[in-house]
Amino acid sequence: MNYRHIYHAGNFADVFKHMLLITLIRSLSAKDKPFCYLDTHAGISHYDLQTEAAQKTNEAKAGIFRLWDMLQTSSLLPEPITDYLELVRLWNKQHGQLQLRFYPGSPVLARYCLRQQDRMILTEMHPEDILVLKQQYAGDKSVAVHHLNGYQGMKAFLPPREGRGLVFIDPPFENTDEFALLLQHLQLALQRFSSGVYAIWYPIKSLASVKRFYRELKASGIRKILCCEFHLPKLTDNALALAAGSKLRSSGILVINPPWHWEDTANKVLSWLSQNFTKPSGSYQVEWLVPE
Ligand code: SAM
Repeated sequence: MNYRHIYHAGNFADVFKHMLLITLIRSLSAKDKPFCYLDTHAGISHYDLQTEAAQKTNEAKAGIFRLWDMLQTSSLLPEPITDYLELVRLWNKQHGQLQLRFYPGSPVLARYCLRQQDRMILTEMHPEDILVLKQQYAGDKSVAVHHLNGYQGMKAFLPPREGRGLVFIDPPFENTDEFALLLQHLQLALQRFSSGVYAIWYPIKSLASVKRFYRELKASGIRKILCCEFHLPKLTDNALALAAGSKLRSSGILVINPPWHWEDTANKVLSWLSQNFTKPSGSYQVEWLVPE
């Protein structure tokens, strides 16, 4: 296991995925009934952007730092954007920082959104990261942390006893067969918990692999798949070489069984992001890969 999220924490893909993740959890919270949030590839949940590792790639500069600066200069950010930024601000404040220094991972952001009646299960495979996670949530009765393969976790913890839940699947894509693994385990999970909401993040590096994944999803029989993609503007080779951050320019989130009207929220968030996050503008799509 070589992947370390500190090299990518707070980059544009984190901004995109975490913003949408928060809106999904907020949508599930619209009903009083409890739900369970399962984060299959949890990471360590806390990233110091001043470390050598984070500064080596400097990916956060073109991600959360860019958005953070907009917060200081614009009072007209849409609600889902300010909601996300407020959680990032809170996490920094909790750690004695008035400026942005620490980036909160998905467990932290989700934990802020959970209500008393909700529950969170985290699985993580890395032998060091799991210790950090366990320490962070020791004594928190709403959170269970397991040193487990995330795909095994889907088998072990689904369906949740609440009958309602969000499964967030955010693999490192170190393996060339990650898309195939995802599809296989999604199908198994849906057999156990067909009404669950599933959000799956993926990088768009090879268009051919992503298109093949979409084709296989369409052929799989899985219904209600909403596909959200966010693309940074195309750069010339020269600009790309000078650009801060990773060469990754596009990523996506598939949402299976999205909450009622969540599609509108996704459109609102991504329309704003694509127009305001970069100059020239980026682009996005929110489309049903498979409708109901
Ligand atoms: N979800 C986190 C967030 O949004 O803040 C980031 C997760 S990072 C992209 C992927 C994580 O998956 C890494 O921490 C890595 O150690 C972990 N990992 C890799 N393979 C795994 C597996 N099979 N099961 C669970 N975790 C795994």
